[in-house]
Amino acid sequence: MFKKMPIRLRLTVMMIILLTICCIGLTLILNFSAGIMATKIDAAAVLPAQVDGEDSNSMDSLQTPPDVMMPTPSEESQQARTDFKMNSIVYLLLVIVGGGVLTYYVSGKVLKPLDTLNSQIKNRTVHNLSETMDIPSTNDEIAELTQSFNEMTDKLNDAFMMQSRFSANAAHELRTPLAVLKTKVDVFKKKHIHSTEEYDALISVFEKQIQRLSELVSSLLDMTNMNDELANETICLKDVLEDIVSELSHIAVEKDVKLYLDCNECVVYGNTDLLYQALYNIVENGIKYNIVGGMVIITVKTDKKQVIVEIKDTGIGIPDEEKKNIFEPFYRVDKSRSREMGGSGLGLSIVQSIIHKHNGHILVTDHENGGTCFEITLGKIK
Ligand code: ADP
Repeated sequence: MFKKMPIRLRLTVMMIILLTICCIGLTLILNFSAGIMATKIDAAAVLPAQVDGEDSNSMDSLQTPPDVMMPTPSEESQQARTDFKMNSIVYLLLVIVGGGVLTYYVSGKVLKPLDTLNSQIKNRTVHNLSETMDIPSTNDEIAELTQSFNEMTDKLNDAFMMQSRFSANAAHELRTPLAVLKTKVDVFKKKHIHSTEEYDALISVFEKQIQRLSELVSSLLDMTNMNDELANETICLKDVLEDIVSELSHIAVEKDVKLYLDCNECVVYGNTDLLYQALYNIVENGIKYNIVGGMVIITVKTDKKQVIVEIKDTGIGIPDEEKKNIFEPFYRVDKSRSREMGGSGLGLSIVQSIIHKHNGHILVTDHENGGTCFEITLGKIK
């Protein structure tokens, strides 16, 4: 029950208990000492008359002599003792009550900023997460708590914004092929008789848009499945990269882009399929966003602890101000060009998730001969 009380009440109860213990102890000691003192004073008043001829200044004479009876306290002395006891009990109660009231008042004052903070937090909703709370100038724990709360709401707000951008972009991407399909069907329905060419044209539009939709859905699924357990296989990077180069060689030939691979035997831990997918996406982008007669150069460097895979191209490059955005889902630097090539803007976002899942990191810089350089760092198996 004590733990369920508000802090203010808890502090007051604790202070009352503490004051009660101290005051009772003090009152007992005071009463005991006062009793001894009163007995001595009573004895001092009786003794000079009883012990005649002895040195009345001697302190020894005040000690109870064996042959002298303990003097019975006078009525006034008895009354004074009772009054003292009563007064000390009254003061004890006054101190406890006063202390309790004072503690309740002071703790209320001390906890006021916490109350204010609490009511501000209660007013927070998804809609005003971006507003920051004023940090008190007190430089105490409450200021620290407000600061931490502001940081937390900033992060939450970023996550919410990203989430809503993601949903809006996903809806938009899904709507476009569906709208194309609907228009084509509407136009087709207006005529009752169709030629074989018209049927063929309709089927080819259907094929293209359905392909686009299924790629988009599988990319979205890849993104959501990224939280699954990571298989810890030993992966030979050289084999993976050679497979990627051979698989993409026909697209490279079509675009007149040359692929170069420079890799020694080296192994990393992880999921072969995921790592294949990540590296494939980057090499494919290097070809897609390249110029006719361009190059994609894949180099693997190793040191004692890590493996660095560099994928450089001589393509159109990525402007500096766009580099931080390209890993965001659905982000495309040149939207029409990317769409033309069947891109959804999800590729690099999936790549980043895969690399992070492998405890690695990915960096994008400019290639010295124009174009882009992606640098992926992974932990190495010794
Ligand atoms: P997309 O499916 O559109 O290729 P990605 O997520 O793979 O999506 O890439 C995001 C955007 O980053 C692309 O639309 C493109 O504008 C840019 N980009 C990616 N790789 C390269 C590259 N090698 N050279 C130039 N631009 C690139």
